[in-house]
Amino acid sequence: MFDIKNITMIYDMEKTEKIYALGGFNLTLPDTGLIGIIGPSGSGKSTLMYCLSTLKKPTDGEILYNGKDLTKLRDTERENLRRKEFGFVFQRHFLVPYMTAVDNVTVAAAGGGGATDRAKALLAAFELIEREFGKRPAKLSGGQRQRTAIARAMINEPRVLFADEPTAALDHENAFSVMDILKD
Ligand code: ADP
Ligand code: MG
Repeated sequence: MFDIKNITMIYDMEKTEKIYALGGFNLTLPDTGLIGIIGPSGSGKSTLMYCLSTLKKPTDGEILYNGKDLTKLRDTERENLRRKEFGFVFQRHFLVPYMTAVDNVTVAAAGGGGATDRAKALLAAFELIEREFGKRPAKLSGGQRQRTAIARAMINEPRVLFADEPTAALDHENAFSVMDILKD
């Protein structure tokens, strides 16, 4: 699905001391499955994922997604792709603090009816109980917040779910439950 061809990412281009986050990187990813990227801090994992998901544009190289070069898309095409085919989970949950769990999930729905019901079904599948659906993030546990964030990322049934250190802010038990959900 992804064919990464010779991508380079240079930060601080305008400064004398440039940062090469990715240097001529090549990789072909399989069409299905769970793919993990490991490496030391600062080795470019987040940069790679941001480039794959079109949140950042590499300085050089091509990223083919189903044969289309993501680096050449127009803004509207990129936005559509992100909204309809990609989902995102980050280390921090980035939930809207004044919205309930279920509204935080529903708000990301790209259209079509029944978003609230789908949001509730996802939250239930991720082991939040009915009583928690109406709570704001501050009233949920860290694990529940992250599972809500995954439900939000899943609401449009993305073909690709990107997760950047999704368990880093969780304790052991919650980290395992979040990984189980992602594997499913
Ligand atoms: P990882 O996720 O593996 O820890 P990153 O992709 O976050 O690595 O970072 C790779 C390199 O790029 C690091 O040296 C980091 O300091 C640098 N970097 C990341 N983001 C930026 C940015 N927005 N501006 C400048 N340098 C950055
Ligand atoms: Mg990172």
